[in-house]
Amino acid sequence: MKGKSILKNSTLLLVLGLIFGIIFGFIMKAVPSHFYIDDIVMNGIMRFLGTGFINLIKMTVIPLVFVSLICGISSFGDTKKLGIIGLKTILLFLFSTIGAIIISIICASIFKPGIGLNFDFSSTSTYTPPEVKNIVDIFLDIIPINPVKSMSKGNLLQVLVFAVFFGISIGTLGEKAKQLINIFEVINDCMMKIVSMIMSIAPIGVFALISITVYSTGLDSLIGILKMILVVALALIIHTILIYGGMLKIGSKLSLVKFFKKYSRVAGVTFSTASSNAALPASMEMMRDIGVEHSVYQFVLPIGATVNMAGTAIVQGVTAVFISQAYGIELSFQSMVTIVISAVLASIGTAGVPGVGMIMMAMVLESAGLPVQGIALVIGVDRILDMMRTTVNVLGDCVCCAVVAKSEKMIELEKYNEV
Ligand code: ASP
Repeated sequence: MKGKSILKNSTLLLVLGLIFGIIFGFIMKAVPSHFYIDDIVMNGIMRFLGTGFINLIKMTVIPLVFVSLICGISSFGDTKKLGIIGLKTILLFLFSTIGAIIISIICASIFKPGIGLNFDFSSTSTYTPPEVKNIVDIFLDIIPINPVKSMSKGNLLQVLVFAVFFGISIGTLGEKAKQLINIFEVINDCMMKIVSMIMSIAPIGVFALISITVYSTGLDSLIGILKMILVVALALIIHTILIYGGMLKIGSKLSLVKFFKKYSRVAGVTFSTASSNAALPASMEMMRDIGVEHSVYQFVLPIGATVNMAGTAIVQGVTAVFISQAYGIELSFQSMVTIVISAVLASIGTAGVPGVGMIMMAMVLESAGLPVQGIALVIGVDRILDMMRTTVNVLGDCVCCAVVAKSEKMIELEKYNEV
């Protein structure tokens, strides 16, 4: 009972941090800059609190992913079970991402956010678009040539690949590796303790991060493409209700209210950090609290944080249609199919850190024959789009994890119902 009220209070504090952060950001924006107060407060105190919080979370991500994935995989024992869970996870990720991109194209085609745009297109000619990545290179880049270097550089996808190999082999060694697995499990418990400590200061971090975003986002750039932002928000909401709500209701029969109530705490982190990787510790905490068996979430969530990006796919879909409308380019059915395929691949190749979705956008535009320069139209508000899409990205990881766990009877329903 006591644990429950602590959790409720911390969620409430996080929401308050978010609301007051937005208000504070607007207040600081209104302060005349010649007083220097805004500089001291925003670039000094708030930057320290916000970046400090993100850095603390980042500190846990690589060791947590490495150790938890090894614990998760090795605890399956037989590789058949692991294979079934892996297959179910990948199929759910693919289904929700393809659904997401189709919803986004339909929404953007109906509401036409790019038509009648009052924008100075000459400014896009000075914009240097991100380099278009070759799809083969994207997949080659997943293989860690030097796993230690991957860890030190924070390349989560490469760490993940190495951990999967490590976990599978350790699991097949049986008795011989028992002690090593125990050690990894103790390290994992330590990491989760560190996460709890850091999450206790999340309301302060969230307050600072959100105030910086509000303070530094130009209102002009926001108003210019407000319709596009609203279409993205609508597509994200439809996807959440239709696909994720449907998956939870039909695929797992778990209570939606309890699930979303519990997710609100994770959403505070995704919204303020715009990073799936940074939210990983919080989503792991959530899965543990709703009774999902550790082997499932230790396996599904790290993979989800790096490859499952339905929210990113939605932003890419809406942006592609938006750019085609803004430039007056008719999208053929074939181009739309190309957008679906390339956005699915681009979202898989997007790392779970802020802003990468827009870099991968270049690949989607290029493959659909749209001007890559068009990214300049939306780049000014990308942080806002990123906060929204990351929240849906991580929600997708959590939903898929719960659905897989329920289908494999690897969730404690009494614990879930206690939420
Ligand atoms: N920030 C997103 C995430 O971490 C990735 C992106 O779309 O930029 O999930």
